[in-house]
Amino acid sequence: MPTPWQIRKRLLEVCHLAARKGYVAAYEGNFSARLPDDRILITPSRRNKGMLTSEDLVVIDQAGHPQRAELAPSSEFRLHTTIYAERSDVGAVAHGHPPYSTAFAVSHHKLCIDCMPETLVELGNIPLVPYGTPGTHELSDRLRDHLHSAQAFLLANHGAVTVGADVDEAYFRLEMLEQAARILYYAATLGGACSLDPAAKEKLSRTGNHT
Ligand SMILES: [Zn+2]
Repeated sequence: MPTPWQIRKRLLEVCHLAARKGYVAAYEGNFSARLPDDRILITPSRRNKGMLTSEDLVVIDQAGHPQRAELAPSSEFRLHTTIYAERSDVGAVAHGHPPYSTAFAVSHHKLCIDCMPETLVELGNIPLVPYGTPGTHELSDRLRDHLHSAQAFLLANHGAVTVGADVDEAYFRLEMLEQAARILYYAATLGGACSLDPAAKEKLSRTGNHT
């Protein structure tokens, strides 16, 4: 079990990486991790993720109240607290607006990854969550309806969310999601991706995770 300091350090590294990769611009995106005492470490409101320091990360309780009054958590904290409350298996959450994934989300195109076996094993079904106003209960309520069936989600007219057992897994799933969206975008220009046939999918589900 990593210490709170190790979790803080890793979350900060992931914020910087996401900014470098262009998954978040300006103040966009928010990232969090569950601490050993079940409180949540989350990025602050209206700060560029590429410029954060470890002191900028905010500890909140499950209701979203910050440990120190002078630090405001991300306005999207409800999205994160809802996920932790609903999924005891989740240790970290990543939310960004990666361009290719978000292009699918704003055009209401479901991301069908059953043409890529390794991505399919890792991410499975990717729900397109109906639009909810950012930062409100409306959005977290709509996500809740899909939470138990997936590890990665597109938010209509908004962006992407991924979850994982730890910070690395949540972030890597965001990378995989964006890579898949980019490949499918290119494949569309070549006439569209070819899905695996049912027998190949069945074999894949039997052989399990070999990514
Ligand atoms: Zn957002």
